[in-house]
Amino acid sequence: MSDLTWIEISKSSLVNNIQQLRKIIGQKTILCPCVKANAYGHGLIKTSKIFLNAGADWLSVNSVYEAQALRDANIKAPLYILGYVPLDSIDLAIKLGCRLVIYNHETLNAVSSASAKTGNPAKIHLKVETGTNRQGILYKNLKAFVQNIKTFNNIEIEGLSTHFANIEDTTDHSYAELQLKRFTEAAASIKEAGIDVPILHCANSAATILFKKTRFNMVRPGISCYGMWPSSETYDAYIHEIKNGFKLSPALTWKAKIAQIKTIPAGDPIGYGCTYKTKKDTKVAIIPVGYYDGYDRSIINGHVLINDQIAPVRGRVCMNIIMADITDIPEVKMENEVVLMGRSKSTEITAENFAGWSETINYEVTTRINERIPRIIVK
Ligand SMILES: *Cc1c(COP(=O)(O)O)cnc(C)c1O
Repeated sequence: MSDLTWIEISKSSLVNNIQQLRKIIGQKTILCPCVKANAYGHGLIKTSKIFLNAGADWLSVNSVYEAQALRDANIKAPLYILGYVPLDSIDLAIKLGCRLVIYNHETLNAVSSASAKTGNPAKIHLKVETGTNRQGILYKNLKAFVQNIKTFNNIEIEGLSTHFANIEDTTDHSYAELQLKRFTEAAASIKEAGIDVPILHCANSAATILFKKTRFNMVRPGISCYGMWPSSETYDAYIHEIKNGFKLSPALTWKAKIAQIKTIPAGDPIGYGCTYKTKKDTKVAIIPVGYYDGYDRSIINGHVLINDQIAPVRGRVCMNIIMADITDIPEVKMENEVVLMGRSKSTEITAENFAGWSETINYEVTTRINERIPRIIVK
């Protein structure tokens, strides 16, 4: 049985991206790729194994479910859960040996009880609020929070973290600078309280690539590990200010095969709502992929690649089908391969192209590709 649609993941691209990141951060900084959201759509388990073999030290996930899946796949590397763990799942997270991010007392108490059951101190990472106003302990409460932790004998503060709000959306990095300053002050105040936190970390991809001083002891890059730039602003800042030969290689190619080919007359509509009308006799390819698969319904003026040539998508994206105009492409046959995203011989469709078509960002494009679609590792 073969699939209607599938994804090829280039192992050499993933390896390249990890090696590129390693080259800029050096050997001493812990490299902790983010594999949340099904490894940004690339496939959690296979991608994680490739990252670790390529030299990643830790992995970060969003949920205890992802951590469980990695442990079930016999992955023994340190796991950092950067999302919320519900109180009733903390026992499991600790049993799996995960590092948890901590920003409230309820979680701290639950971690302490869980670690009492295992007999080993739990390693936690405090998250300090520096201005993203998402997860995090308010700076004014940090000292008291830390004093409280000192009364637990089975909790080890292994890390201190924060997250930037405005580093990839702009080339003006003054807000990031302010957050970095607050983070550094938080680290100093914990030190003053008599606690040496071995791992400071705040860098996502953009920070890792652009600002050496944000790397500290560990970096948490996500999107760059998959070969994509966080934004065009980040790329521009890199090109103007850094330019150290750092090179990313996108790893994902999304394919399908043609289910039907036919010529429809001039003036006929295509698809639901009859939103598109042909201007001349038009040869169309019916492609069995749609918004259920993650090919977004908001896409207008999208295209696919068939025989290495551009075939515009016509009419609305359906649940499981799109229609492409192949009038100008010779010798297309039923069951020919279609490239929806990624490279064909001489041209490519990027996640950024998709983002442009549906007014979103590359992150959302790849993370939304349905998990059910097989990910096949290729060279
Ligand atoms: C997702 C995430 C990252 C990775 O961000 P990228 O921009 O993909 O590199 C880092 N840190 C935290 C807390 C995150 O949630």
